[in-house]
Amino acid sequence: LLPVAGLSEVKTKIISGESATGKTSLVERFRGNGFNEGCVQATIGAAFLTKTLDFEETRIRLDIWDTAGAERYASLAPMYYRHASGALVVYDVTKRDSYVRAEKWIRELKEKAPKDIIVYLVGNKIDLVEQRAVSTEEGMELAEVFELEFIETSAKENKNVAQVFMEFAQKIADEK
Ligand code: GDP
Ligand code: MG
Repeated sequence: LLPVAGLSEVKTKIISGESATGKTSLVERFRGNGFNEGCVQATIGAAFLTKTLDFEETRIRLDIWDTAGAERYASLAPMYYRHASGALVVYDVTKRDSYVRAEKWIRELKEKAPKDIIVYLVGNKIDLVEQRAVSTEEGMELAEVFELEFIETSAKENKNVAQVFMEFAQKIADEK
């Protein structure tokens, strides 16, 4: 992997949630690869990606597991959780079901991930205003129940995408 000079930290982040909520699109947008309408390959199992972020005194390498939410992978392998310091649970604001089922992903994280993991609940696709089926308030409520950070995003319009990855890395950098 990347040779990292100077002060450095390797932090692992998991992206979970139902299929087609935009997990891969968020990661690709964050990595500067733009947005692909409708032609994103469904992720098989999980994709491993890495991105290095430089803060004033700390360099953080984010190792990202972009997982598949398909039923046959309904439970994530323990290896994704083992070293995870952060996780995003993504739902699609136009698909009520993906919001309802986000709870299952949150519970799995609570059960299996390290206790101090930083979890963000992410409502994606807010650009689809007409099709919205889950309100911002409902997202906030679910996040509150499980004491998670909450943010709404659009991978398509590049809204809050950097924030959701950077805030997490910033928190870790601040702890140095
Ligand atoms: P994943 O299965 O969770 O990794 O979802 P993908 O990233 O593969 O995205 C599934 C579909 O949703 C693709 O057709 C994407 O182009 C689309 N998509 C992802 N994010 C957004 C978004 O923010 N807005 C809109 N309108 N479509 C999105
Ligand atoms: Mg995917």
